[in-house]
Amino acid sequence: MLVHICCSVDSHFFLERLQREFADEKLTGFFYNPNIHPYSEYRLRLLDVERSCALLDIELITAEYDYETWLELTKGLESEPEKGKRCEVCFDRRFEVSAQKAVELGEKSFTTTLLVSPLKSQQQLKKAGDEFYKQSGVKFISVDYRSGGGTQEQSLCAKEHKLYRQDYCGCLYGLNMQRTTQDKTASELYSPIDAAVLPGSIEQRIELYERRVQLENQDRDYEIVKERFLNYRQLHCSLSSNSEKIDVYALHYSTLPRAICKATITKHIDHISYLSRDNVRLITLEYLNRELLSSYATIQELLYNPPPLKDQLRLREIVSNSPYSLSPIIVTKNTPKTKMVLRLQSRVYQDTVERLIVL
Ligand code: SF4
Repeated sequence: MLVHICCSVDSHFFLERLQREFADEKLTGFFYNPNIHPYSEYRLRLLDVERSCALLDIELITAEYDYETWLELTKGLESEPEKGKRCEVCFDRRFEVSAQKAVELGEKSFTTTLLVSPLKSQQQLKKAGDEFYKQSGVKFISVDYRSGGGTQEQSLCAKEHKLYRQDYCGCLYGLNMQRTTQDKTASELYSPIDAAVLPGSIEQRIELYERRVQLENQDRDYEIVKERFLNYRQLHCSLSSNSEKIDVYALHYSTLPRAICKATITKHIDHISYLSRDNVRLITLEYLNRELLSSYATIQELLYNPPPLKDQLRLREIVSNSPYSLSPIIVTKNTPKTKMVLRLQSRVYQDTVERLIVL
């Protein structure tokens, strides 16, 4: 039996139940979810499904991440709410491709973990499955593992096996709407130009979940705990003086109360220039190199390969004498002498991050 899989939280419980109920069947998992955005989140969910299938001794095959086709199919439905028309198209696409895969592999039957999703009507899936059976001879196995306490059992199963619990359904549109309703930053959609692994990012989670697979392979115990913290994302920073653009780098946690600040230098103490507004501090690249024992030759170099976050925080503390400072700390090659215009767009927000504790 081919089993279409959407995520480990749905599939682990679903596959365990199938293994009990269809003990004579050889189950093959099929991961096909081009709806998931961004691609890093797709990789993360796949990573956890691979681990889950390995634990259950189930072969897993994957399909192409044909995101462009998914975007085409959902064109015009971008603003649909969850459970609306876009979700129908999204479910149908995954269902159809999985059914075709079952035919291609010569399977006699197929099913999907979408059956445990509260977003999809089981009757609708069964209807589509029965129609497909008439055309292809591949039987759709419509099981109801949601009722009779199934949902609670599924939640316990996810906890017991420390499965990765995503906090949005999957697509770009659903994610944007969810974060807007929550009044939260959709940090999943930020992609830094230096490819840094930022705190609370999907890339950081991938590192954590890869590490836990390594620990499990070494038979070592671990726990995953959550921490709340103040997160930060920078969208834009530029500085000009006398209408000339000056290359700059803003240290992590640099914020402005408005998007723009026009100011002049009022004092210069111990290699730090203090601006007349918004607590802006300017430091030179030379000063940064001296404090961090680095050797950046240009600001461009700094932009594409910045110091590790812990070094930036250390430097922030030296400059502002506080680990909690949110003042803009701007690095330039040479300090401008005349009035300047700083543009800085950034977000500071509460976030949670998972942490791995090796026991
Ligand atoms: S919200 Fe979920 S089910 Fe709906 S279109 Fe997006 S990924 Fe698909």
